[in-house]
Amino acid sequence: MSATDPSASAGAILTVDVGAVVANWMQLRDRVAPAECSAVVKADAYGLGAARIVPALAAAGCRSFFVAQFSEALAVRRALDGTGGTVAAQAEVASLGGLPAGCEADFLAARILPVLNHAGEIAAWSAFARSRGERLPAIIHIDTGMNRLGLGPDELDDLAGHPERLDGIDVRYWMTHLACADEFDNPMTGAQRERFRAALARLPKARASFANSSGIFHGRDHHFDLARPGCALYGINPTPHLPNPMGGVMRLDARILQVRDCAPPMTVGYGAAHAVAGPARIATIGVGYADGYLRTLGGKGHVHVDGTPAPIVGRISMDLITIDVTGLPEPAARPGRMVELIGPSRPVDQVAAEAGTIGYEILTSLGRRYHRVHTGA
Ligand SMILES: *Cc1c(COP(=O)(O)O)cnc(C)c1O
Repeated sequence: MSATDPSASAGAILTVDVGAVVANWMQLRDRVAPAECSAVVKADAYGLGAARIVPALAAAGCRSFFVAQFSEALAVRRALDGTGGTVAAQAEVASLGGLPAGCEADFLAARILPVLNHAGEIAAWSAFARSRGERLPAIIHIDTGMNRLGLGPDELDDLAGHPERLDGIDVRYWMTHLACADEFDNPMTGAQRERFRAALARLPKARASFANSSGIFHGRDHHFDLARPGCALYGINPTPHLPNPMGGVMRLDARILQVRDCAPPMTVGYGAAHAVAGPARIATIGVGYADGYLRTLGGKGHVHVDGTPAPIVGRISMDLITIDVTGLPEPAARPGRMVELIGPSRPVDQVAAEAGTIGYEILTSLGRRYHRVHTGA
């Protein structure tokens, strides 16, 4: 054991099964066929490592990738070009956050599709294309109820009445985004679908993109031409009312640094927030909020020690958490042993529920300090 070997010295090890991400994508691809299936890889593939995941998805046949920002799109483009494959090099990379003013040439040079979110961006991309005497590809976002990004009703009316505003633009897709797709009894999804259909009927004909992960599970009439799953690729349950149809793709294991015996009236950690109720053994683990292990898990969350859940007691520190291992077999809760924070025994959705948040936030908060291992690529 050497301290320069991060697997030996790191407080925690994040293991991402890239093959399991690919298997999830193939499951969704099959579900939406004959529609196409893209992959949403924003925020570094939801915290799990776009540089490793994107080439694997491209090798499995994924031909379009969505990110939130230009810098992320550049990184995805680089990951695709790095594969040396001509098909991967032709894959579409689209940036959902729109076309920042003056950045038209950068999008074109890097072969990144802007998602045009408002009339000003359509005008800018059209003017840029016309100035070059070319037709340039873009995706155009129509707001059907999110009131966040996308053409509002007035902009839609204007565009429907003035299709020349699209001169020079090769509309690859009209897209919209669902607000409540994970609530399967919420009428919002059907209402957005009908608003989207009505908008498409008024606009020049092009392909359409509608469903996020949960949207895919609403059935065929929600698939349109291109699905945009994110969370389901990474093992978050897209159907929260049903067992998770997706495979788990990651695990987070952290090291026990020290174990001590406590007895009343002793307390544990900052704020003396946990008072032991009786004789107790407390194990200290090398992970904390600086690693994105959310502070709201203090006094609420659990970890798995050799197959047995153990409660987190006291506050989450910057670099440490404390768990109660009273009654657990001594060898399982010994310094140097690893405990499972997220993984097969503690699915990400369960950890999110304990933290009072959603799996997306758990994944995208995963820290930079973890020793990261990618398997199954
Ligand atoms: C993030 C995002 C997605 C993916 O959503 P999931 O719920 O993670 O599947 C799809 N479309 C847009 C516009 C997004 O911002």
